[in-house]
Amino acid sequence: MANVCIICEKEKNGEPVAEDAVLKYIRLAKQKLNMAKNNRLVVCSECMEAHKKKRAEFEKILVQHAAIAALVVIAFLALAFMGKGFSLVTVLLAFLVAGFILALSLARYWPGLEKGDEGVLSKFAHKTKKAEKKPAEKKEEKKTAKRKKR
Ligand SMILES: [Zn+2]
Repeated sequence: MANVCIICEKEKNGEPVAEDAVLKYIRLAKQKLNMAKNNRLVVCSECMEAHKKKRAEFEKILVQHAAIAALVVIAFLALAFMGKGFSLVTVLLAFLVAGFILALSLARYWPGLEKGDEGVLSKFAHKTKKAEKKPAEKKEEKKTAKRKKR
């Protein structure tokens, strides 16, 4: 299996790309069409800057679209309740429109790295990971503070 950079498309070694749902689907579709090359996708060191820009842009757009989609669902349901026109069709329509808005962000789709990226989404994921670690860090701080008092 060759390592291929997703930007310059050359056979090069680099940071492995994370296999997400979109990539899995593309691979599956290619296998069905017998177009699969089964290369391992990476980002080479020369293309890292370009990758970071593309990934950050996609993550920003995805978050924006998710927010708009959520608002659309809320607006649809609120209107349906107020107008007493609440039905399964309204709910389905709301989620259809929301799904369409989310799907639009895929036009800018760019995969992330296995080790994580620096976009909005990755930063959020990173923060939640850090938050889990915090209690232990605080204990350490208290210990050092006590030592200082002595
Ligand atoms: Zn490259």
